[in-house]
Amino acid sequence: MPRSFVKEARKRVGPKKQRIRPIIERLAVEHADAAIALKFESPLELLISVMLSAQTTDVSVNKVTATLFQKYRQPQDYLDVPQEELERDIFATGFYRQKAKALRGTMRMLTDEFDGEVPTTLSELVRLPGVARKTANVVSSELGHPEGIVVDTHVRRLSQRLGFTKQEDPVKIERDLVKLVPREDWGRFPHLMIWHGRRVCDARRPLCEDCVINDLCPSSRV
Ligand code: SF4
Repeated sequence: MPRSFVKEARKRVGPKKQRIRPIIERLAVEHADAAIALKFESPLELLISVMLSAQTTDVSVNKVTATLFQKYRQPQDYLDVPQEELERDIFATGFYRQKAKALRGTMRMLTDEFDGEVPTTLSELVRLPGVARKTANVVSSELGHPEGIVVDTHVRRLSQRLGFTKQEDPVKIERDLVKLVPREDWGRFPHLMIWHGRRVCDARRPLCEDCVINDLCPSSRV
């Protein structure tokens, strides 16, 4: 889009600080079911699912964990089998060697340092082997203690289209978003972006004419 159009569009929709609340409110109504797609029943299952979800789809993780969680119930269970057996059990999620190694390292630390419980703070979660900031953000947020905003491909694309950030790097995007998004919405904001991205604001063919926030979006095509 030429620069003059972008400028004009930004002027038309107004400053992002004024748009953020109505955008969140409208998307919350539109996507009332927006939630994490991974299936889990405990903080441990959540952590493992998120670790397995790297470079694959939530659907394939859910398929694997449906049987995995029947067999492995405690952190120690992951340590009681040979690594090769765990690799076979998570094979379908891809990158199974690295993931099995990370899972076992994390289970070892949970057992040794956290009484077998999953910590809730970001600073503790990122100490776990193979748990990067994004994974830690998802886990702490789902456990009700969001300390940041999860930035995935949908959050990045929509935040850019909505004029919330000009950055490309997820860490810098998160920095812009935490200044803008009200603290109480840090947990639900990524879910709203993800579901709106999947259902309406597609990467290649955004359905601007059907979008409930098109009057607040500087990238709207209508
Ligand atoms: S108006 Fe279009 S570009 Fe903007 S959020 Fe909606 S679908 Fe995406």
